[in-house]
Amino acid sequence: MNNKTDLTQAASAKIPTLEVNDLYKRYGTLEVLKGISLTANEGDVISIIGSSGSGKSTFLRCLNLLENPSQGSIALKGEQLELVKTSDGQLEARKRRQLESMRARIGFVFQNFNLWPHLTILENIVLAQVVVKGRPKAEARQRAEALLEKVGLASKAKAYPGHLSGGQQQRIAIARTLAMDPEVLLFDEPTSALDPELVNEVLGVMQSLAEEGRTMLIVTHEMRFARDVSSQVMFLHQGRVEEFGPPSQVFTQPNSDRCKAFLSSHL
Ligand code: ADP
Ligand code: MG
Repeated sequence: MNNKTDLTQAASAKIPTLEVNDLYKRYGTLEVLKGISLTANEGDVISIIGSSGSGKSTFLRCLNLLENPSQGSIALKGEQLELVKTSDGQLEARKRRQLESMRARIGFVFQNFNLWPHLTILENIVLAQVVVKGRPKAEARQRAEALLEKVGLASKAKAYPGHLSGGQQQRIAIARTLAMDPEVLLFDEPTSALDPELVNEVLGVMQSLAEEGRTMLIVTHEMRFARDVSSQVMFLHQGRVEEFGPPSQVFTQPNSDRCKAFLSSHL
């Protein structure tokens, strides 16, 4: 067997971290996603760009069933999420346990942080580890402290979210997500609720996660970040993938005129 055959076989044996096939989402007669497919391999950082209303958030939310898709399939490291049709024509998880495990494996970082306001920063990061992962409290605390260190906020362990800046809250939200040991991280416009001077501290944390080899899907309007940090860029238009490729191609010679127009008004 020559080297080339070896490589081809290695590539075909590789299981994608996340594989989405022909995903649709309808709200009544409104078709928001019209057959989206995506393969994310380990270490891929995929930026999702597109105009407001193109379906970016809906797509991310369907991946861990914060929204029920109408059609399509989702697999995580080769494990299919088992879906059943509901009476209103959407798909929901067949097994509650599989859904919960998938949600822990696919971390989600929201635009508005969604921290518990009545819990301290440390408690925010400890809670789901104990409740969902069943981790002993001492171990969860240790892990939370290490993650606070990682996002540069070790000194804020005892503070409440309301006393932190938006940028700090988002870094805490990222630490909380990381505490679940997710295999994929989804970010839905993680910096768009922030004052401009706070954007970079959050992008910096995300960049270091990308450099660690984390698999990430990021909905963003930060085009420079998308260009510099992504391995691939996906441009959505009216619920369809209109352009997909490495940033060097998408940002300099997109095939789609719509993508070109979008970029010229956002760069
Ligand atoms: P984006 O994140 O790209 O701005 P969204 O995914 O939020 O776009 O929305 C895509 C489309 O789906 C929009 O037309 C929006 O109005 C519609 N939509 C989103 N959520 C709902 C909902 N719960 N019910 C009805 N329509 C919705
Ligand atoms: Mg959105």
